[in-house]
Amino acid sequence: MHHRFEPEPFRRISVAAPDLAGNEEAYVVEAIRSGWVSSSGEFLERFEREFAAACGTRHAVACSNGTTALHLALTTLGVSRGDEVIVPATTFVATANAVRFCNATPVFVDVDRDTWCLDPRGVAAAVGPRTAGIIPVHLLGHPVDMDAINAIAEQHGLWVVEDAAEAHFATYRGRPVGSLADAAAFSFFGNKIVTGGEGGAVTFSRDDLARRMRMLRSHGMDLARRYHFPIVGFNYRMSNLTAALLCAQLERRAALVARRRAIVRLYGERLRLQTGLVHRTDAHWAGVSPWLMAVVVDHDGFGLDRDALMATLAARGIETRPLFPPLHHMPPYRRFAARQGISSLPVAEWLGATGLMLPTHPLMTDDDVAFVCDQIAAAGRSRTLRRAA
Ligand SMILES: *Cc1c(COP(=O)(O)O)cnc(C)c1O
Repeated sequence: MHHRFEPEPFRRISVAAPDLAGNEEAYVVEAIRSGWVSSSGEFLERFEREFAAACGTRHAVACSNGTTALHLALTTLGVSRGDEVIVPATTFVATANAVRFCNATPVFVDVDRDTWCLDPRGVAAAVGPRTAGIIPVHLLGHPVDMDAINAIAEQHGLWVVEDAAEAHFATYRGRPVGSLADAAAFSFFGNKIVTGGEGGAVTFSRDDLARRMRMLRSHGMDLARRYHFPIVGFNYRMSNLTAALLCAQLERRAALVARRRAIVRLYGERLRLQTGLVHRTDAHWAGVSPWLMAVVVDHDGFGLDRDALMATLAARGIETRPLFPPLHHMPPYRRFAARQGISSLPVAEWLGATGLMLPTHPLMTDDDVAFVCDQIAAAGRSRTLRRAA
């Protein structure tokens, strides 16, 4: 007996991967040969100079990762016990964790149904007598409506720290993220838009903050007097090896962003034909620097729920991620939300339950994107419709 055997389509596509094909290797080798492999060196100075220039700020302070960048920014601004800090419910957990490192209290606010970013209307409603500041997160590379956030901050005397970990080189009304608030935190983790393997940076323009942040980054040591420690600090430094890698990434930043934009555009064109998928609506003032392509999977319209689609794609070799679950549901944060009387943040909960992040990285070919879209189409309701037709 002979069976016609059609192998299931399969192609290994990872959700993220770094493109290190420029001067990355040469610069890291150069750093090793120079002997400057620790926390000072020419690549570090060059990286801080060039990253500040790219963000349009006077300062960029390099540090060990995006989480320590947030912690450094908050500590430099004096955040402490009893302060309340407004954060979006939809973000990576590090945004809220950095607030807790300062013994401050995160106050979760819902995100906008169109842009999926922190909703200024929710922020205005959440400001109270203990509010000290706001951390808008430029989610998935889409900037927050910063004029609205800054207006609220000004009205109430609050600081604002951008979490730009997913949005390097994005623009808001033509101005780069990183330059839109008191300070901004960036991550250079392996899956971000530019990477040093690990790494982070804080950008800002106030000179008085620069001195304090550099002290806090390195044990609280006086910048001019060795082994004199006026304040308690951290060891949050970046190595010259990491900076070498990042200098090479910065050289190719335009191409790296352009490739991600092309991939996201291709996904958009193909997946818009698919019923049951909801796309983010980009604001007209947003210059998006895409991190990961994401869609919301509407069970009824699509025919499968998000988790079933993830499993189907995984069986075809395609790695995906759920969109971030809402932070007010996480065990360390439930009690804060309960105390603040937050029962439901509907958009964040909808995104967490049904949002799906698709493979998006510069090593993907157009054909890879088409493969992912074809597998999504094959899994969804349109398949039944096509077969019936
Ligand atoms: C990645 C990320 C961070 C943390 O960066 P690490 O370098 O991994 O510490 C913080 N906030 C957001 C929004 C992120 O996506």
